[in-house]
Amino acid sequence: MQEILLGNPVFAMASAQFDRAADFLELRADTRERCKWPKRLITVSVPTRMDDGSLHMFFAHRVQHHLSSGPVKGGLRYHPSVQLGEVAALATWMTWKCALMGLPFGGGKGGIACDPGAMSRGELERMTRRFTQEMIPFIGPQTDVMAPDVGTNEQVMAWMVDTYSTHLGSMEPSIVTGKPLGLHGSKGRKEATGHGVAFLAMMALEKLGHKVAGARAVIQGYGNVGSHAALSLSRHKAKVIAVGDATGAVYREKGLDARALAKYVAEHRGVAGFPGGEAIPVEELLTLECEMLIPAALERVITADNAGRLRCKVLAEGANGPTTGKADAILEQRGDILVVPDILCNAGGVIVSYFEWVQGLQHYFWSEKEVLQKLESQLAEAFREVMHFAKHRQVPTRVAATALGVAKVAETRELRGLFP
Ligand code: NAD
Repeated sequence: MQEILLGNPVFAMASAQFDRAADFLELRADTRERCKWPKRLITVSVPTRMDDGSLHMFFAHRVQHHLSSGPVKGGLRYHPSVQLGEVAALATWMTWKCALMGLPFGGGKGGIACDPGAMSRGELERMTRRFTQEMIPFIGPQTDVMAPDVGTNEQVMAWMVDTYSTHLGSMEPSIVTGKPLGLHGSKGRKEATGHGVAFLAMMALEKLGHKVAGARAVIQGYGNVGSHAALSLSRHKAKVIAVGDATGAVYREKGLDARALAKYVAEHRGVAGFPGGEAIPVEELLTLECEMLIPAALERVITADNAGRLRCKVLAEGANGPTTGKADAILEQRGDILVVPDILCNAGGVIVSYFEWVQGLQHYFWSEKEVLQKLESQLAEAFREVMHFAKHRQVPTRVAATALGVAKVAETRELRGLFP
């Protein structure tokens, strides 16, 4: 298992982050081994009937990293580059994230290597339902609860609920989170990750002594996370001056209209051609001068190549794993950018997923105000905890956040002991 996983650059990155935190914590060798490696790697083939009558074999992975604290929790990704090692890295980060946030979950992640943009709705539905069926021996509200991630959405979650509930013979909403409101979803879940990213980016900026009103933000990715971060920032009078995605990048010095851009992206599947801004080369996006830089697309986009040229005050990591180890070293050396690390910054999604899971199990639903208040207070507390740890233990914020998460998992492992 180790060779397969460590051969993947994203897993190698997650593993190096863990090693640094574990060294810092001086974890015992056996606890360290038990915390590091995922518990289960599941790969299934997903035969799917395509619209032209042909059969296509998709390959899907689900990694359950840590089952000692409760069910595993984590997204399901549809993207052509999905690989087992990448999924395992994302599951690992979910473990530290859930622990850091004090949630009763371990980390999980799943993915199907496919191009959802090139598939019809019928093809997506058949693939999703067959995948859910293949996963039935491994999932359940107390075992593994999936949620949307890149390339998946509320509709995909609704098909999963239906497939699982049909198999069970009764409605089971808590098999996934990120469901539509009409199917026992939680108020505030769709916005939660992006809203949380914006909330913490603004908190970080204010911590540095800057005002949010008029501050400039640059966002990479305008899907669920990026668009809701932009909407939230705009509501607080920050200016989203540039946005990029897989189709291109747009810029407007006075600030883009986040709502109009979201509507345009929903109709045109990307930001390219948005009439409310001028096109700029995508390579320029991340190094534009701004106060808040928010990567909200894929991993490993802040690299040794561009880290020295970033011109932001706050790097708020909406995406999982956007910054490579070499880039981290450069940012540490520079010391002029406050990094809000992914496992803290984008935790709003899993926090409200937790709320949704609880509401589903109790069949008792909360108001949006209650959800958002609880979300913000949980994020603010974790932000303060990470900043305090980083300052007093003199470590970068990523090491602080990872160490806080790893320490909680290590404690759980040691309390439970080793069976037999
Ligand atoms: P999404 O599918 O809704 O959006 C992804 C965005 O990334 C799209 O705008 C797409 O065009 C863009 N993108 C894809 N490839 C790109 C490339 N090569 N260059 C630039 N942009 C590219 O996905 P999402 O749910 O918004 O997730 C985005 C990130 O946030 C991922 O790293 C995901 O793991 C993380 N995340 C998501 C959630 C959630 O609740 N959805 C929670 C925590 C973390």
